[in-house]
Amino acid sequence: MESTPTSDPALLEKVTNLAKRRGFIFQSAEIYGGFRSTYDYGPLGVNMLRNVKQAWWRTMVQGRTDVVGLDAAILGPPAVWAASGHLETFTDPLVDCKKCKERWREDKIDGVCPNCGSTEFTEPRAFNLMFKTQAGPVEGDGATAYLRPETAQGMFTNFANVLATTRKRPPFGIAQIGKSFRNEITPQNFVFRTREFEQMEMEYFVAPVEADEWYRYWVQARYDWYLDLGIPEQSLRLHEHAPEDLSHYSRATTDVEFAFPWGWDELEGIANRGDYDLTQHSNASGTKLEYFDQATGERYTPYVIEPAAGATRAMMAFLLAAYHEDVVEGESRTVLRLDWRLAPHQVAVLPLSKKPELESVSREVLAALQPHFMCDYDVTQSIGRRYRRQDEVGTPYCVTVDFDTLEDRAVTVRDRDTTAQVRVAIDDLLTTIRTRSGTS
Ligand code: ATP
Repeated sequence: MESTPTSDPALLEKVTNLAKRRGFIFQSAEIYGGFRSTYDYGPLGVNMLRNVKQAWWRTMVQGRTDVVGLDAAILGPPAVWAASGHLETFTDPLVDCKKCKERWREDKIDGVCPNCGSTEFTEPRAFNLMFKTQAGPVEGDGATAYLRPETAQGMFTNFANVLATTRKRPPFGIAQIGKSFRNEITPQNFVFRTREFEQMEMEYFVAPVEADEWYRYWVQARYDWYLDLGIPEQSLRLHEHAPEDLSHYSRATTDVEFAFPWGWDELEGIANRGDYDLTQHSNASGTKLEYFDQATGERYTPYVIEPAAGATRAMMAFLLAAYHEDVVEGESRTVLRLDWRLAPHQVAVLPLSKKPELESVSREVLAALQPHFMCDYDVTQSIGRRYRRQDEVGTPYCVTVDFDTLEDRAVTVRDRDTTAQVRVAIDDLLTTIRTRSGTS
């Protein structure tokens, strides 16, 4: 596989171990031997995943006037998935190795069984990736429901509702973050490809003549989002699909790719879907999904530009990019250089000792910071070890309360990246941390 700036085969294992050891990501149902390809997000992971989603929401919804949010149902009737094309075409080609009997996705194995090296496979079969279930106590066709394999269809089926209730007009977008489910044949690489995952998708509705321009706009905007949150430029690239590789609904697609330890791979896809989705749902439901422009008297079916990202996959990329080992004060340490906005805790408050008088002022400091930042509070072990523990999970600032604090009402603020320490009055602490992190 093509080498990348972070093609360190050991990196995946290091980050996976750290994620488990420090409570970012656990194997699901581990006490029962685990459930393949499902993961639970632990005390630190849940904070970080929320931060990834929050950063996306801030950029895509909060910071704009042309995008609104949505939270649609996960369960859906077959009619939606028939119209979208998922019932018929949302399949992967499945093959079985004739020698070791392992099952693979044909387009991912380069003709050789990754398990035993055999080149003999069964004929490919189309395997539908949707999870099918029953809604209600009655079995049969009328009760069939599907878990959504993407969040996008909720935006299309609510297009008319959103138009009618928000007074938006093209160009405008509908954004959603939520769980999606795909019965992946070969889930792999930790949380890169799992059967249950979270997506962050936005459908941007535009006049057909403006579609190409907006497509290019969103490709650049989405690339910039990852850069801004700390993925280095050399670990990020854009990959435009050749016309023969496009999905049936797509007029153009560009992937934002990250240099994963196994090679370049997709973080997000930005597609110009034309009027495919709205036309399909108009025809199948009998509800016209069009826009009538009163100014021009023109009626048209908007084109859709879709930036579709994975929240859990993005979190993994942010962890990989942040992982560093360096030496400070003659001691080696592991440090996650996570962007301030993504770190599970922004601040750790550390009383130098467990003495009650120190704990009481430390609690006071903590109470002043908690309304503004996600804080950790740690009283055990030596201060050096506590700093290392915070470095390892990416906490940007440690605030140490010592015996001098009782006299001068000041604390020591230590910076994760430089390890530099400054003395700050408790009264100035909030402003100091805000200024240093650029959040003031
Ligand atoms: P692939 O070809 O890798 O299966 P895709 O191109 O079908 O993925 P999309 O349908 O475009 O993926 O989904 C948009 C985004 O959702 C992906 O870029 C990825 O970040 C995320 N995603 C898709 N499938 C999974 C999965 N099984 N596990 C985790 N994230 C996923």
